[in-house]
Amino acid sequence: MVRENEIREKEVAVAPPQATDAGLVFIGTIRTPWTSRLVCPRQGRADGPICRIELFPPWDEALEGIDRFERLEVLYWLHQSRRDLVRQSPANNGEVHGTFALRTPVRPNPIGTSIATLVERKGRVLLVRGLDCLDETPLLDIKPDRTLFTPIAPPQPGDFETG
Ligand code: SAM
Repeated sequence: MVRENEIREKEVAVAPPQATDAGLVFIGTIRTPWTSRLVCPRQGRADGPICRIELFPPWDEALEGIDRFERLEVLYWLHQSRRDLVRQSPANNGEVHGTFALRTPVRPNPIGTSIATLVERKGRVLLVRGLDCLDETPLLDIKPDRTLFTPIAPPQPGDFETG
């Protein structure tokens, strides 16, 4: 059930320690059709609506070569989430689960990830499908989908370690 920052039966909130700055920089903004969590999908779909990932200068220069990848991993900051729950009740039925056993947006560091399909690049804007975040969600990072990416530098010993 969609959460709007309430605490539910049997959920556990903690007093988070003082934040230490991880040095995150919002590198852009994500424009989607969803302005409320009540209508936002819980996970993106490959056949979802086209959304816009708008890079801020100077980070747009970092898009060079991205057109080669059909799918991208997109990381974003779920900025409207509370961050203090360690046990949560997604169904709001009194049954609780540990935060790290869930893909809930409510986490100590509310980072969301999606695999998005790249439809088109228009300068500093990427048109993609497959997102599940609110309009104007801050963008943290973009990477090629790992299954499509081959390291450019030559192999190194650690690449072949097993176990
Ligand atoms: N796909 C990502 C993941 O697995 O890491 C996010 C999944 S999370 C379940 C998606 C939900 O987070 C949406 O349905 C919406 O309720 C909520 N959400 C989306 N954007 C948000 C934002 N900017 N701040 C807080 N909550 C957001």
